[in-house]
Amino acid sequence: MTSLNDLPLRDDLRGREPYGAPQLDVPYALNTNENPYPPSERLVKALGEAVMDVAGTLNRYPDRNAVALREDLAAFLNTDTPGAGLTAERVWAANGSNEVLQQTLLAFGGPGRSALGFEPSYSMHPIITGVSGTRWVNASRDEDFGLEPARAVAAVEEHRPDIVFLTSPNNPTGTALPLPAIEAVLAAAPGMVVVDEAYAEFRRAETPSALTLLDGHPRLIVTRTMSKAFAMAGTRLGYLAADPAVVDALLLVRLPYHLSAVTQAVARTALAYGEELLGGVDALRGERDNLVAWLRGEGLRVADSDANFVLFGTFPDRRAVWQGLLDRGVLIREVGPPEWLRVSVGTPREMAAFRAALNDVLKESL
Ligand code: PMP
Repeated sequence: MTSLNDLPLRDDLRGREPYGAPQLDVPYALNTNENPYPPSERLVKALGEAVMDVAGTLNRYPDRNAVALREDLAAFLNTDTPGAGLTAERVWAANGSNEVLQQTLLAFGGPGRSALGFEPSYSMHPIITGVSGTRWVNASRDEDFGLEPARAVAAVEEHRPDIVFLTSPNNPTGTALPLPAIEAVLAAAPGMVVVDEAYAEFRRAETPSALTLLDGHPRLIVTRTMSKAFAMAGTRLGYLAADPAVVDALLLVRLPYHLSAVTQAVARTALAYGEELLGGVDALRGERDNLVAWLRGEGLRVADSDANFVLFGTFPDRRAVWQGLLDRGVLIREVGPPEWLRVSVGTPREMAAFRAALNDVLKESL
């Protein structure tokens, strides 16, 4: 039998583990920050029809530049952030925002270059960075998981990275970044600044999107996804907004026809039903706030969240709490700083199951 060690694998990939949360068949899956509400019957029918429409043309390659889809995405962003003034030339799409990030690293990172992030944050950022041959530089967030502008600027000035990652709301902490922190980093950064807004639609009204900073900042990239609030994780559609020149750069590294005709048709149909799909966001926000209050009522520490998940703790043996919940059918995520756990916000029924299971586990460990 051949093992990985027998292959002439890149040295820097040796000893790595594939990324991924456990995909287990459990009654309550609260571990990957999906939207718990499946598409309505009406939308399922429309999606089926959209796929039927393209099915007869699948002998042909799709639109390589996904222009119609990018127009629809730009229109959505202009409703999300009025005044953003986005057009298809300033929007780019790929298979999940992970692929958008990968293309960004391929275009602006690479051997001899570096990318800086403020941890704890999304653990794929260092992985995508490393796989692209870019050096990862780890700075840290503040004690409360925020990012004080002066500290952020100091880290950027010290390391002078080619790419800075900011995540807002941040995964796994839920923390939203106020615009001044982003503006300070933009002013100090010598290269590109990526604001990962995968969870932006869940943010509170008083936290504007970094989309409002695009004008006058040609090195700013704001990434979004249809995997979270848009309830389309299975579609694999992520996108970004940036200066048209940034899109030109990404065209140099994208594979031709990377977005299948089926993906483009499904994503466009979902966007046409955007209001319906995002209809669950208010309920999820409410459920999130209730969850934060309940966890605090139980005497636990909880990070403020602008997202559809909550980071809570602290547990000297977090693995035991995670396992105890799993034994009761509730799968959450063991991620972030030691002693903390992250739970995604689900339906009221799922949250009730989580609360009951956690109560049980905590009682047992007393
Ligand atoms: N950014 C952040 C902060 C995330 O949490 C995730 C998903 N967990 C992604 C990007 C990637 O999502 P997708 O590839 O599904 O768009």
